[in-house]
Amino acid sequence: MDAFGVARRVVPPGRVRQAGAPLLCAVFLLAAFAALVPVSFADQPFAPSRDYDLTHARIELRFDLEQRKVMGQVTHTLSTLRDGLRQLNFDSVDLTISGVRVDGKEGRFSTDADKLHVNLDTPSKTGQKYEVSIRYEGRPKKGLYFIFPDKSRPNQTRQIWTQGQAEDTRYYIPIYDYPNDRTTTEMIVTVPGDWETVSNGKLVSVTGAGQGMKTWSWSQAQPISTYLITLVAGELEKQSETWRNLPVDFIVPRGQRERIAPTFSRTRDMLTYFSDRLGVLYPWDKYDQSMVDQFVVGGMENVSATTLTTRSLLHPVLARESLQQSDGLISHELSHQWFGDLVTCKDWANLWLNEGFATFMATLWQERQFGADNASYARWRTQANWMRQGRLFTVPVVTRDFNDSLRYAGNIYDKAGLILQMLREQLGDEAFFGGLKHYLEKNRLGNVVTEDLVKALEESTGANMDRFFGQWIYGAGAPRFAVSSAYDDATHQLSLTVRQTQRVGGTVGVFTVPVEIAITTLGGTQSFPVRVSKAEETFNFPVNSAPLMVLFDKGSRILKSVEFRKSPAEWIYQLQNAQEVVDRAAAAEALGNVKDNPAVLAALGEAAQRDRFWGVRVQALTALGRIGGAEAGKLVLAAIPQSGTEPWVREVAVEQLGRFKDDASLPGRLAEISRRDAAFRVRAAALNAYAQLKPAGGLSVLQEAAQADSPDDVVRRAGLRAMGALGDDKAVSTLLEWSSEGKPIALRTAAIASLAQLDKKNEAIGKQFIALLDDQAFDIRTAAVNALGDRDDQSAIPTLEAMLRRTDLPVNFSNVIERAIDRLRHTNTDSDAGSAQTQPAPAAGGAAAPEVLDRLGKVEQTLTEVNDRLKRIEQALPAKSNAQ
Ligand SMILES: [Zn+2]
Repeated sequence: MDAFGVARRVVPPGRVRQAGAPLLCAVFLLAAFAALVPVSFADQPFAPSRDYDLTHARIELRFDLEQRKVMGQVTHTLSTLRDGLRQLNFDSVDLTISGVRVDGKEGRFSTDADKLHVNLDTPSKTGQKYEVSIRYEGRPKKGLYFIFPDKSRPNQTRQIWTQGQAEDTRYYIPIYDYPNDRTTTEMIVTVPGDWETVSNGKLVSVTGAGQGMKTWSWSQAQPISTYLITLVAGELEKQSETWRNLPVDFIVPRGQRERIAPTFSRTRDMLTYFSDRLGVLYPWDKYDQSMVDQFVVGGMENVSATTLTTRSLLHPVLARESLQQSDGLISHELSHQWFGDLVTCKDWANLWLNEGFATFMATLWQERQFGADNASYARWRTQANWMRQGRLFTVPVVTRDFNDSLRYAGNIYDKAGLILQMLREQLGDEAFFGGLKHYLEKNRLGNVVTEDLVKALEESTGANMDRFFGQWIYGAGAPRFAVSSAYDDATHQLSLTVRQTQRVGGTVGVFTVPVEIAITTLGGTQSFPVRVSKAEETFNFPVNSAPLMVLFDKGSRILKSVEFRKSPAEWIYQLQNAQEVVDRAAAAEALGNVKDNPAVLAALGEAAQRDRFWGVRVQALTALGRIGGAEAGKLVLAAIPQSGTEPWVREVAVEQLGRFKDDASLPGRLAEISRRDAAFRVRAAALNAYAQLKPAGGLSVLQEAAQADSPDDVVRRAGLRAMGALGDDKAVSTLLEWSSEGKPIALRTAAIASLAQLDKKNEAIGKQFIALLDDQAFDIRTAAVNALGDRDDQSAIPTLEAMLRRTDLPVNFSNVIERAIDRLRHTNTDSDAGSAQTQPAPAAGGAAAPEVLDRLGKVEQTLTEVNDRLKRIEQALPAKSNAQ
């Protein structure tokens, strides 16, 4: 899955729900902690014990569209795993069961909060087969969603879609619903005759069902875990291709056909590349990608039928302004068809085996399609971003200490993806991909834990994996290096002292990592591979003259931070001469801390215009923005030619101009760019930068933008969004109008976000946000929660806390609410808890001391995955997809 966070059924922190423990215990404990923790529902870190093996689920669904009701019958074929069972239990929440048949005979049953119990007439024998047919109906609070037109969305096409992960399939099908089992499925669904449907596996038939209805039958012939069951149905249109004789269909809301090509043009290339690279052919009967509105996550890798948010469905004009378009999301979800679907984690504690691989594979695609420089630059930024998130530092990738498998999303996505890249570097491509092939084949259609990967890699490569997995997967943190160098002219020796400064303890240890040291002198560059393994050690290297450049971990292969004091002249040399883009990018970043140095400005200005890689130009521009002052401003302006620069670089340059508040000519320049730049994303950035400068009377320029038509309303949206930053309360009436029902959702959310920043004494605005918490549209509810969090009005806390206690929150949503409450309380747990005292404070974010964290304890430790998630959602948006 991409971009999701779950916090539902709460198990008190520090405890985990034991496999097979009666639910009553959890309910009791939950009540006891109700005063301390938000009551919501979470996924279980341990797989439950199984009573039976579910082998086939035949699912028949109809809908009452008026009442948003599902009427279903599911027939389970199963065989018991032990003697003496008197009941067969199915996960089922809020469904009304009207009848059960066991092997064709009417059966007795009972229900409780989250189970259906079907009684057996006589105790079971191990291996005994049963066919259990369940008739039911319900109005699902989650799991299955009706997206229909309403007052706020009169033009909405009708769509029904499901989202099973983590444990939500049980809200619309009574079923065994945990990933430690697999079943084949049939989905037989009756819908209006002019609808399309998509589900797992092969389309078997579409037949008339009377009264203008049709019945679609889908069959998934290989067994899958139930969170990967999907249904998408609605007023959709489809474009069909084939890949190696398999159907590859793209399904979008009616009227959006022109967006299919710019969004999906490389899907078949990806299928070829992943099949070839892994040596394991794409394993399913077809590959469908459906784009649906108001999807609660970025994308979901349902077997053979991925569902994606229409937020990443690209307008053809805007697609041209973006380097990677929606490839990040599309390749992530496609790679799950191997990692996650063909081979599935056995429990959520091992979710990195799904998400770490999908993150890694998306970067692999980036490398293949957009070049190694793009991929290594993306990894370098992810490394830095991860190292800044202190709350992730002390938690291993595999942990069972959670009530929400995505509490540590930054570990199971980003860190795990980087770890796989390090493993690849250390084993070499042949051994690494050979090991993956063995892992996939050995565990094909199976459910795995981390040790299955370890074993497969060891069998395939002969390499011992214990230290690597011990420190990176089961251990927490990463090395924080402090490096210093000294050159002795008499002995022609360079000595490098390397200290690991991370706070060692708990699951964080001293790391053993291979590091390449590259030393450049007048005589050329020499490379020295070393193994760093101690808290402090010194390495000596013979060199023929004084070094011009010393690189520690050339190309930044290792997840780490490094503090390496160098003079401005050394950084300038590195910016101009390092061969790998990330070493030049690191130099640009370091130079952004050097003030009042003309040579530094000149070097950054030169790099901002002429470095051959766009990412280094972006880093140089950002560094100039950070340095500030008239001279830096001139250099940024000089780097904005009207043509010939990638729009995603020009966008960053224009953004920087918002930092130069002393140049009176800049507002006029930015207003001009906002009207004339060839790229809409640059025009949008100009409006934001303009507002940052807060020019007198600036509202009229933003009002003008709010009137301007552009693809997907990019300019209008930016105009509305900039009104918040401008801080002129006169914008309130315009923003109230654009936030009202009936306006397009993307504009409403922009207006709501800006309103949050204005007229803070106006209680009517806060009341308006609270009213929007019940809006039909998920995006509006999200925007309203965020706006309340930004408005600094603590009286909203009880309302948000009450909302957290609701059990109908879709996947993702409780994290958004908790984050908003966190901001209102001015608590920030995203501190740099992993540093020892000698480390400088993190560049951004608060810095709550470790003891503060301890005091708050895990009960109060608020989620910050929303950062990662927002980042991923942003990556799915056209205007931001390349700057990340
Ligand atoms: Zn994923």
